[in-house]
Amino acid sequence: MNYCPCCGHALSDKFLFGRVRRKCTNCGFVFFRDPKVAAGVLAEQDGKVLLVKRLYEPHQGEWALPAGFVEIDEGPIAAALRELTEETGLIGRVTGIVGTYHIRSDPRGSIVTILYHAQIVGGELKAGDDAAEVRLFAPAEVPQNLAFASTRRALWRWARTKKTGT
Ligand SMILES: [Zn+2]
Repeated sequence: MNYCPCCGHALSDKFLFGRVRRKCTNCGFVFFRDPKVAAGVLAEQDGKVLLVKRLYEPHQGEWALPAGFVEIDEGPIAAALRELTEETGLIGRVTGIVGTYHIRSDPRGSIVTILYHAQIVGGELKAGDDAAEVRLFAPAEVPQNLAFASTRRALWRWARTKKTGT
């Protein structure tokens, strides 16, 4: 970043709060580079997990949990449920947390993803925004071509829990 988003003045490098950051010498604005926040759901119905086949890059054609970036005016739970509805047509209710995941390999930058357990409470299954296809998978049917490390880790644990019943 070269110009201040607050006043338009040029930014310069300063050592601040432990590392070099871009600072505006006119208004004092400091540019903190930080991860984007994404949220999604591991939603189950009849012992099967809901996955979305991605319509767009990155990872086009691969399967992922319904998820997306948190908008500036919503919290992560609202974002996760909104993405569920936009991508699958289903309405969910968050019942717990699966985990938080730091994704470094995404071409869009460093991402912190928060995944929630969700229960389907309504709606009609139908591929929506960003989705080529939506489907429910039993633990043994989970596809190999999974899009993100967060999806892989969450689904491995889910499938293992289903098999052992713990
Ligand atoms: Zn400024």
